[in-house]
Amino acid sequence: MRIVLFGPPGSGKGTQAAKITFLYEAEHISTGDALRQAVAKGEGLGAELKRHLEKGELAPDELVIGIVAEKLAEIGYENYILDGFPRTVEQAQALDKILSEAGKPLETVVDFEVSLDALESRICSRRVCPACNEVYNINAKPPKKEGVCDKCGAELIQRADDNRESLKKRLEAYEGLTKPVLLYYNSTSASVVKVDASVSADEVFAELRKKLGL
Ligand code: AMP
Repeated sequence: MRIVLFGPPGSGKGTQAAKITFLYEAEHISTGDALRQAVAKGEGLGAELKRHLEKGELAPDELVIGIVAEKLAEIGYENYILDGFPRTVEQAQALDKILSEAGKPLETVVDFEVSLDALESRICSRRVCPACNEVYNINAKPPKKEGVCDKCGAELIQRADDNRESLKKRLEAYEGLTKPVLLYYNSTSASVVKVDASVSADEVFAELRKKLGL
């Protein structure tokens, strides 16, 4: 399993990646989670990175590519879902280079299709666990006990970039820098499949499994 989940913020990539990797014991590589952890630990670019993330701007390519390259090497370039990477054509090209040098090219890019209108309400009602990264939605998937993670008991938070202002910036970055990545993949050997991501998480998962033959 060598898969990229592609789509705008709030399209459910993280939720679906967690479902697949749990069921099939694959590695969930989320660059957003990795960057938030780096910010929390004060690693790398520290304060500058925090500003990028909170404003909804992309982190520098070099930094993100380094994080992914290290993780892929650690797991032997097999059995993973990339969530939130690549987000620029430069990142996609760097990923291809890393994978072709390892002799294990990408198999599938899943394009999560969802209307931009649906994203704002999803993003604003999202809550996350800072300890285990479990994702909730106060309307569609609330925790059993309000404000507390079902899985590990930690206190849930709202991401610093899950607000209307940051979302606007994140969507601009998606339109301008990330969408061209899909055109790039149309010209490579990876197969691109589309999934309707506007329905419930369970319905998306069912379609995803069908499309991926899982
Ligand atoms: P996500 O959790 O995927 O929504 O990512 C949250 C934020 O982390 C994004 O808005 C960016 O600021 C940053 N980020 C995540 N992945 C990348 C990436 N591949 N390239 C650049 N910045 C990223």
